[in-house]
Amino acid sequence: MTTIHDLAGIGIGPFNLSLAAQLDSISGLDIRFFDRAPRFDWHPGMMLPGVELQTSFLKDLVTATNPTSPWSFVSYLVAHKRFYEFLNADFEAVPRREFASYLAWVAENLPALDFGCNVREVDFDGRHFTFAFDDGERRLARNLALGVGLTPHVPDWARPAIGSRAFHSSETACRLGCSQGRRFAIVGGGQSGAEIALHLLSAAPAGTEVLWISRRSNFQPLDDSPFADEQFTPSYVERFHALTEPRRRATVERQKLSGDGISMSTLRSLYRRLYELRHLGDGPHARLLPHREVLDLVLEGDEARLVMRNGFDGSIEMASADTIVLATGYNQALPDFIAPLKSKLALGEDGLFRLNRDFSVKWDGPADRRVFALNAGRYTHGIAEPQLSLMAWRSAVIVNALLGRRHFDLEERPPLVRWTSEDHPAPATMMSAQGRRPPPPPVQNRA
Ligand SMILES: Cc1cc2nc3c(=O)[nH]c(=O)nc-3n(C[C@H](O)[C@H](O)[C@H](O)COP(=O)(O)OP(=O)(O)OC[C@H]3O[C@@H](n4cnc5c(N)ncnc54)[C@H](O)[C@@H]3O)c2cc1C
Repeated sequence: MTTIHDLAGIGIGPFNLSLAAQLDSISGLDIRFFDRAPRFDWHPGMMLPGVELQTSFLKDLVTATNPTSPWSFVSYLVAHKRFYEFLNADFEAVPRREFASYLAWVAENLPALDFGCNVREVDFDGRHFTFAFDDGERRLARNLALGVGLTPHVPDWARPAIGSRAFHSSETACRLGCSQGRRFAIVGGGQSGAEIALHLLSAAPAGTEVLWISRRSNFQPLDDSPFADEQFTPSYVERFHALTEPRRRATVERQKLSGDGISMSTLRSLYRRLYELRHLGDGPHARLLPHREVLDLVLEGDEARLVMRNGFDGSIEMASADTIVLATGYNQALPDFIAPLKSKLALGEDGLFRLNRDFSVKWDGPADRRVFALNAGRYTHGIAEPQLSLMAWRSAVIVNALLGRRHFDLEERPPLVRWTSEDHPAPATMMSAQGRRPPPPPVQNRA
């Protein structure tokens, strides 16, 4: 008889790994997670020397909602007998290699994970989800958890050069070493662009030219100040989800640097290296080009020239490069394997999933069969969605929804910041005799 999984997870990045780790505390469920990669490996293409986590290690797979889980970062330190030395090292930010090693340790030890399984197709037979692998094997599941990550964004102008002269930052570690020529252009002013620029300026031989281009008006820091970090709390996400769609979109656009700036430590290291190269020694030559939008790439024989608009003075500029690294970010996209199911799933105008509060996709199917989508809700759950910050909480929300009961206590105190008017009930003296609020006072500009 065919096994029917209570939940099948597709993709095992940190987010579904967190869900698997949280589900490990519950007995009696048949759960299984699948990934096409041969083993767990967290963004290997960007594992450059010295790169750091942008998040506290306490925001690990489980701790925020399940601090006694054996799958916490602290459990990993203890199991690897490096608890004291880790504390003594007093890292300002945990090395990304260390956090990747923690994630891989969990992935090696959790029982419900299968690697080397590419899911090719998902459908619904009226009672169960059916899904098929490359080798034709089919399985059944009552619920699905999609954790397939984001898709590298390649701008149109770069497409003709992909493979020969240009590659996406997600391939940096394997492509940078075998690049032809000595002129590198990095396009993208976020954390990946900064890490690649720092790596080249630190490791490339003298005579190398490193061009760093950013559309942003300057090389801007990540805003991880305390009140910006309030946007990475469950209570904020709940309030954000309750907003109308246009309001949610406008809010996300305003929050760019809270989720997508460069760590201050990376900016400092870069500036210090630039100082060293300029005043104290020999090495690669750097050209920093913020506020430039790449418009085109002209390929003529051996020559590749980037055409840019300078947003500072309005001029058009050209720059030659032998290798172009596209640190141009990632897109949210529906996975191809979902095509047979697509007509039953609710999609927004942007073609992306419309998600319920509990991260299940709104759909035309039985209420006790659900497709949960992780890292798919930037415009439904906010800027924390693609980050590690709330993964333990999101997994706990999904577990509670799956079980239909409060396995994890997710009740929150009222937020420190009163985001909505309901967070801020008007005091009795502010109410008019009819019980209505008085009109607001006129807005005054700050002098
Ligand atoms: C270089 C880098 C560093 C980052 N650092 C931080 C940080 O410090 N702090 C932070 O908060 N966030 C960080 N992020 C953002 C975010 O935490 C990560 O991108 C995270 O890996 C997202 O996890 P995920 O599970 O959604 O997807 P992914 O890690 O991309 O995993 C998706 C998995 O799905 C599998 N898959 C896809 N399709 C199929 C299929 N059809 N069948 C089977 N398997 C499939 C893939 O093989 C892959 O293993 C970083 C992102 C990058 C790119």
